[in-house]
Amino acid sequence: MEMVCIVCPNGCRLTVTRQDGQIAVSGNKCKRGESFAVGELTHPTRSVTGSVRSTVKGYPVVSVKTDGEIPKDKIFDLMSLCRDLTITQPLPIGTVLVDDLFGTGVRLVTTRDMEEANE
Ligand code: SF4
Repeated sequence: MEMVCIVCPNGCRLTVTRQDGQIAVSGNKCKRGESFAVGELTHPTRSVTGSVRSTVKGYPVVSVKTDGEIPKDKIFDLMSLCRDLTITQPLPIGTVLVDDLFGTGVRLVTTRDMEEANE
């Protein structure tokens, strides 16, 4: 299997093979590439960005992100969760909207300071 390591901007092209339950990785310039490839095969995760609707004047939507990585198979659920949320008051950047997403310990936080523009 071929994949591109997304851990750093080098974007190494990795070749990943499985044999006798062992995962072998080549093409990586550093150890992080090997960890990435093994993670992709066993429990792929991603940091996710998105937006949440707001009723605050001047902010129809507010950008948000996870403050860590969540399982890739939870990304669709996260997008659905974001669609169900509505921010009703100005919030500072980094406000936690949802704690412990899907039991991962990762939080959904705002990435825009709403108070600043209201001054
Ligand atoms: S293998 Fe190492 S150097 Fe290559 S993209 Fe991944 S992190 Fe960067």
